[in-house]
Amino acid sequence: MKAERQGENREENEARKNPEIKNRRKSRDLPDPVRSMIMKKVAKFGGSSLASAGQMKKVADIIHADETRRFVVPSAPGKRYSDDVKVTDLLYRCYDAAAAGEDIDGRLKEIQARYQEIIEGLELDLNLDEEFAVMRDYFQRQAGRDYAASRGEYLNGLVMAKYLGFKFIDAAEVVLFDERGNFDAEHTNEVMRQRLKNMDNAVIPGFYGAMPDGSIKTFSRGGSDITGSIVARAVKADLYENWTDVSGVLVTDPHVVKNPEPIETITYRELRELAYMGASVMHEEAIFPVRQEGIPINIRNTNRPQDPGTMIVESTCRQPKYVITGIAGKKGFCAINIEKEMMNTEIGFGRKVLQVFEENGISFEHTPSGIDTYTVLVHQSEFEEKEQNVISGIHRAVHPDSIDLESNLALIAIVGRGMKATKGTAGRIFSALAHANINIKMIDQGSSELNIIIGVRDLDFEVAIRAIYDIFVTTQL
Ligand code: ASP
Repeated sequence: MKAERQGENREENEARKNPEIKNRRKSRDLPDPVRSMIMKKVAKFGGSSLASAGQMKKVADIIHADETRRFVVPSAPGKRYSDDVKVTDLLYRCYDAAAAGEDIDGRLKEIQARYQEIIEGLELDLNLDEEFAVMRDYFQRQAGRDYAASRGEYLNGLVMAKYLGFKFIDAAEVVLFDERGNFDAEHTNEVMRQRLKNMDNAVIPGFYGAMPDGSIKTFSRGGSDITGSIVARAVKADLYENWTDVSGVLVTDPHVVKNPEPIETITYRELRELAYMGASVMHEEAIFPVRQEGIPINIRNTNRPQDPGTMIVESTCRQPKYVITGIAGKKGFCAINIEKEMMNTEIGFGRKVLQVFEENGISFEHTPSGIDTYTVLVHQSEFEEKEQNVISGIHRAVHPDSIDLESNLALIAIVGRGMKATKGTAGRIFSALAHANINIKMIDQGSSELNIIIGVRDLDFEVAIRAIYDIFVTTQL
């Protein structure tokens, strides 16, 4: 007993002298409920995680397994099987039918049945008849497509709040858009922060908010990811969890490479590069709110909660598992190759060429150049209908010797913070492609050394990605 006391006194004395020990003790001694009041996680669940009562149960288990998961952002129920229809799509169709003057009772019933199936499966004492009567009225009075689509999340929020025993907060009260329909980040942050400040928990439906006149406005499709991020910023969460149906961000597209490895940790910048080049992870705009506060994002799998998923962070000293973090790409580019002798002596050549693209409202992707050649890479779909205007515009602007177009090109981005410190990455990419018998049309290494972009023919796209994946990942497994 005495010895124990002495030990305690020694610890106390040390703690008094050393504030670090004091703090460590402080947090260790906190009872669990206090710790959970300090720690905050925001958990957003995607549509497939909430498509049925069975999925909802998994979600509730996840939330109850960690009491720091205090703020929950649901999507609308998604697909239950591959050719099912998302509730959001049913709502859009129903609204369009109402706008065309059709009877919508059957369509509304079908939508209500989706919720009813969940309510009954969860044995909830909840009746949505009144909500559907209001919706019917608003649809007929043409309250807007955004209003219609938002009901998917709104109703799912009511169901979830009831099932979890959490408070429900209508996103229309805390997610605000300005008169022109632009998301008002700062106003929202203030209003949401005040509202959630003293709350233990809440369900806030994703995807929508309100304009100053109270009318409902949604983000673009997939926008519940943005709401989750906004809530995480407002409550200064320790972590923003984004629960979906894959175990994190994959090194490359699973439609191209079978069962690609998941990425353990990725930086916001790397993710942005991959997302821009076509990797579908989260809504692109969802990164900005959490990034402002340096809050990490954890992508998790509702169907495999034991998997750690992918951490998306501002920066990390963790070495990536492989030299590259990810590979993504897109097809459908066109190269405009311009040749002119002594081009190198003409100051302003590039500016004049790019101005032609600007005047035609076409954004360019890359501009590789040689001594007497200058190439502009653009999206074929944007370029096609204006191609003759652009060609004549370039002739007028710089009087080239020739302009030649090459279509059906694909761009592949090989992204990785690990490339900066590693020699021979480009060499390995080129030899992998040479072995796969693929001709490289273009090469571009970003100045940040975070990515290497290569251009190949559309036809070679899949084989090229597989060859690059194999050289950096498969051979290292
Ligand atoms: N339910 C909406 C959609 O299907 C928003 C979302 O799920 O994030 O796009």
